[in-house]
Amino acid sequence: MDVPAGLKIAMCTSEAVPFAKTGGLADAVSSLSLALAALGHEVKLIMPRYYGISRDKLKKLEGAMGVPMGGGEEWCAVYTAVLPGPEEGGKKTKNPVVVYFIDHEQFFGRDGIYGSSFEPDFLDNPRRFAFFCRAAFQLCRKIEWEPDILHAHDWPAALAPVFLRYGERRSAGEPGSFANTASVLTIHNLGYQGIYARDNFSYTRLGWDVFYQAGFDDWNMMNLLKAGINSADKLNTVSPNYARETLTPAGGVRRDGTLRYRGGDYSGILNGIDTAVWNPAQDKYLPAPYSAANPEGKAKAKEALQRRFGLPETPELPVIGMICRLSDQKGIGELFGPSYGSAWSICREMDLQFAFLGSGEGWAEYEISGLASRLPNFKAYIGYNEELSHLIEGGADFFLMPSRYEPCGLNQMYSLAYGTIPIVRNTGGLADTVQNYSQETGEGTGFMFDDLTPSAIYNTVGWAVWAWYNKKKDIEAMRLRGMKEDFSWNKSALRYVELYKSALKR
Ligand code: ADP
Repeated sequence: MDVPAGLKIAMCTSEAVPFAKTGGLADAVSSLSLALAALGHEVKLIMPRYYGISRDKLKKLEGAMGVPMGGGEEWCAVYTAVLPGPEEGGKKTKNPVVVYFIDHEQFFGRDGIYGSSFEPDFLDNPRRFAFFCRAAFQLCRKIEWEPDILHAHDWPAALAPVFLRYGERRSAGEPGSFANTASVLTIHNLGYQGIYARDNFSYTRLGWDVFYQAGFDDWNMMNLLKAGINSADKLNTVSPNYARETLTPAGGVRRDGTLRYRGGDYSGILNGIDTAVWNPAQDKYLPAPYSAANPEGKAKAKEALQRRFGLPETPELPVIGMICRLSDQKGIGELFGPSYGSAWSICREMDLQFAFLGSGEGWAEYEISGLASRLPNFKAYIGYNEELSHLIEGGADFFLMPSRYEPCGLNQMYSLAYGTIPIVRNTGGLADTVQNYSQETGEGTGFMFDDLTPSAIYNTVGWAVWAWYNKKKDIEAMRLRGMKEDFSWNKSALRYVELYKSALKR
């Protein structure tokens, strides 16, 4: 098959900034789409229109769209918008990424993307996302656009490659046949696989032979990501090191065998960061711009952060920043666990300040609020706040990420770009992006530890704080080294193009 020069790429995703976000997936999908468009590819992004995305600023496509589901058909509307991206010389880009929102009141007209605080995983999620994936094909037919690549992200979109392989890809020549479309599935986090009762399988409209052939079965349940892994033409995850880890029983979350089976088609491509949004030289949330060449503005950001969090505005004390979803993946048990977590001793015994931003599991929110009320040098904001996240990245001296596992991790890359030295566990994408400090040579960009234990976190934060007070030159050199690294999407977008081309040669 000839590989076209400018590819037509359909991104199927449940999240994309600035429209809907629970984590790094949303950042990655949008910035990858923009980077591919900048390379001259035609990218369309397909996602649900959740209740929180106002219809006011969207354009409605004419007519309703029928989507075959289960034994019948569901009807929905489609809205469009342009994915906001950097402007070229003050002008709008010539090759915009168009977003298509699938609008279905019953499935998506509610608060929450996957669940709410009362119902963390909506009961009808298999039905909602089966509908969404089927709708992606109907949409392409409606707008008479056949993509070269169908790029699905994580379990909510994992049915799209399954549908393509089992039914939607028909003989060439038929209208809307997808005969030349290849599929790519990106796993942003193997910890979430979309596992539901198998009674839900009827919504997929696939036969029971496909249930077994595509490998949906998972201990008498239905596993959407597993079927996607088996069906996509090519697969990848978001860092080379995490790709290796997921092939082992320790890191494979019961999918290591499935992934090993697809070994030749599976790789790791490091996420980039959106340098238009995450750039201290032009960050609208910082009091003053700064860069590796002119780093003075960082002190102002530190002062602003201390003021904002109610910490004494002293430049002498190191500030440890942390931003995260409060979930077990992030090592929060070892850090904040009642009585055994090390945050209490870190703040009690070391001369530092700690600024935390995040939300998630109730017990952790409770513990963190408790620490904030008892420790004068520990301040926390429980909730989601874009502005504060920029202020922490800019104003902190160190950034703590003691993750149990980390497919790629964006915050450590933001930290490096902002001259904020990461303190991270040696795992997943953290190991690909941070180099451990060497006291002998002064080399490195961060502080790393291997075991996830409260004492390893304590000791490594202690090491970083020791270096802050005793190795000032090394700390300054590490900051600048991190700021000079290139974490933009340029390299990674090209690697995705290579992956697409190899998928087309299936
Ligand atoms: P994950 O996707 O596992 O949550 P990442 O580090 O890859 O972790 O990405 C997390 C993204 O979400 C980052 O952009 C981070 O700044 C952002 N984020 C997480 N929690 C919050 C919060 N409470 N407020 C603002 N941004 C947050």
